[in-house]
Amino acid sequence: MTQPCADWKAQGGGPTSVFTILRDEPVWRTRDKGTLRFCSYCGGIHPEDLIARLKAPGTASVRIERTSKSYKSYVHDSLYGQLKLYHWHLTQPDVDQLNAILQLRK
Ligand SMILES: [Zn+2]
Repeated sequence: MTQPCADWKAQGGGPTSVFTILRDEPVWRTRDKGTLRFCSYCGGIHPEDLIARLKAPGTASVRIERTSKSYKSYVHDSLYGQLKLYHWHLTQPDVDQLNAILQLRK
């Protein structure tokens, strides 16, 4: 369960949009490398996949970096590179889990 893409909505996404690329609701899909899913509109990582990645063995070096934007963080992962985490996709349980994981890594 994730939150819908707020960026898509803010840009006027929906079946009546004048822009074809904004008509279809964003979906989660994997990229060439690996099984992580990303939002087809904003490119943000699926929160559940990020949480699973952070809990996986051997991922202690994966870290989340704040940005100057309150709605976005970067994820640095030696396997996947720099990923974007858009906070609008997070549910409250996601936020709680991420806080717990990050607290343990301090
Ligand atoms: Zn999105």
